[in-house]
Amino acid sequence: MCGIVGFTGNHQAAPVLLDGLAKLEYRGYDSAGIAIRDGKSNTEIIKEKGKLKVLGEMTDWGNAVRGCCGIGHTRWATHGEPSALNAHPHSSDDENVIAVHNGIIENYQELKEKLSKQGYTFKSQTDTEVAVKLIDYYYKKYNEGPVDCIVRAMLRIRGSYALCVMFKDYPDEIYTARKDSPMIIGIANGETYVASDVPAILKYTRNVYYIGNHEIARLEKGKVTFYNIDREEISKPLTEIKWDAEAAEKGGYEHFMLKEIHEQPKVILDTINSVVQNGQISFESVDLSDDVMRSIRQVYIVACGSAYHVGMAVQYVIEELTSLSVRVELASEFRYRKMSLQDNSLVIIISQSGETADSLAALRSAKKQGVRTLGIVNVVGSSIAREAESVFYTLAGPEISVATTKAYSTQLIAGYLLALQFAKARAEITDERYAQLISEINSIPAKIEKILSDKERIQWFSSKLVGIKDAFFIGRGIDYAISLEGSLKMKEISYIHSEAYAAGELKHGPISLIEDGTVVISVVTQPELYEKTVSNMVEVKSRGANLVGVTTYGNYAMEDTADFVIFVPKIDPLFAGSLSVIPLQLMSYYVSVGKGFDVDKPRNLAKSVTVE
Ligand code: GLU
Repeated sequence: MCGIVGFTGNHQAAPVLLDGLAKLEYRGYDSAGIAIRDGKSNTEIIKEKGKLKVLGEMTDWGNAVRGCCGIGHTRWATHGEPSALNAHPHSSDDENVIAVHNGIIENYQELKEKLSKQGYTFKSQTDTEVAVKLIDYYYKKYNEGPVDCIVRAMLRIRGSYALCVMFKDYPDEIYTARKDSPMIIGIANGETYVASDVPAILKYTRNVYYIGNHEIARLEKGKVTFYNIDREEISKPLTEIKWDAEAAEKGGYEHFMLKEIHEQPKVILDTINSVVQNGQISFESVDLSDDVMRSIRQVYIVACGSAYHVGMAVQYVIEELTSLSVRVELASEFRYRKMSLQDNSLVIIISQSGETADSLAALRSAKKQGVRTLGIVNVVGSSIAREAESVFYTLAGPEISVATTKAYSTQLIAGYLLALQFAKARAEITDERYAQLISEINSIPAKIEKILSDKERIQWFSSKLVGIKDAFFIGRGIDYAISLEGSLKMKEISYIHSEAYAAGELKHGPISLIEDGTVVISVVTQPELYEKTVSNMVEVKSRGANLVGVTTYGNYAMEDTADFVIFVPKIDPLFAGSLSVIPLQLMSYYVSVGKGFDVDKPRNLAKSVTVE
């Protein structure tokens, strides 16, 4: 959450910052600001409430502000309402220290009181201003230099932060520090960049440094020096980013979400090909051996949001293919529960960004108990990728739309392959069935293409849903897991109240909410459960529901029950979720567009949830 960009070089900084912030706007967009330094005495801080566009128009997209060193921020407010005053950058009263921050300073009240006693006053309601003034306080008290006062502040601060700080006495330099919030640094042509995420600086360089927890960096033009919390200089490896700049552009689509929906066949194929060669899965790159897989007795899948829904679907697949026992847990709950994890367990953490605060904390708590961990992560070099013992990288590429589609789909694929390899390593599947299921997984991209080629029909139907107030998604087994995702998509970008229920649960309460015209979307791809779910559909239809069915070609009788049916290609039922989710993604997309909403940046939400 929140996007940070910093630049020091020979060009004008403001256009670089605004351009970079535009690439990070998915991280936060309630206000934005920049601070630009032109020589020692001249610093301009410009910030405003609203999306980046407001700041862009105020500054002629940076062209109206002079100076070659600066920091910028798009905010996702945690402390203090979205307003120009609370927007970043924040500064000490004399502008000795100016900073932007991503994260939460948990003990900001206590620090505020301490600083107030030292004569500091506060203009904003943010925790960030407290951190800025704390750094200023140590700078003036000890007179040692930027790295030292930042370290002193880091030792006092509890919480999470990625900080970019400028000091009046060091006009061409930016100092950064991080704990549990992401930050990367790049150098190109004698100029230095820092950002919360790669897309912001991909235009300039593909080689980046990942700054670690409790580390500090000093950025000069074309140079970066790293320090640990003991203030000792350290060296860091350069990581090459494999995807290119176009991957983070809209490429002719109206919205990132639609582009990313269309990218699913390709990124699924990339993800499959990363571990499947000649019809065999190899987890060498994941660092998960068959021996380890044989030793596991219990699997915990821990995640948040859509990644949690992936866990729900994958749970059924692992249970179907192996004798393993699987539990799916919400990371925000798991981390605070007193669970004694069984020996021989594997904790799988799923996170697109690899920075999700709750998932990272859950990973650490599992590691503390000595349990083996595996991250299913999209962002290379992210915190979860670095801290988990094994990592399965999904190759979704940069996902910009806040509502996930392609990252979700590649996570599902990673889960299927994991389930299949568990079965193979544990000798719980025949060679024939293994080969057949690999070939079914390989068929997913082409089948998604087929669904996408008929998207106009879904668009047409979605236009009829624009006015609805409520929607219900129902299904059983894997179809229930997909219903959860469909429902989340609908509510997050279309702002329609929506619930997902295991179809058998309807009669235990929710059916009382069904009245004339209530939209009920049923996912029905599992042959064994087909009749059961159809009975539930009939129950709601008898109470006036407007029924949508998502089912497999061949189930044409569904047209007698549902008012509108979407057919998806036939596939082994274990993997049907990868197909049935596509119409649900499209449906929520078109409803959001129909309502005139900003599809890629839904209100109150941000991607890469680095706060609790
Ligand atoms: N806690 C800070 C604020 O509310 C930073 C939030 C963010 O990461 O955008 O201003």
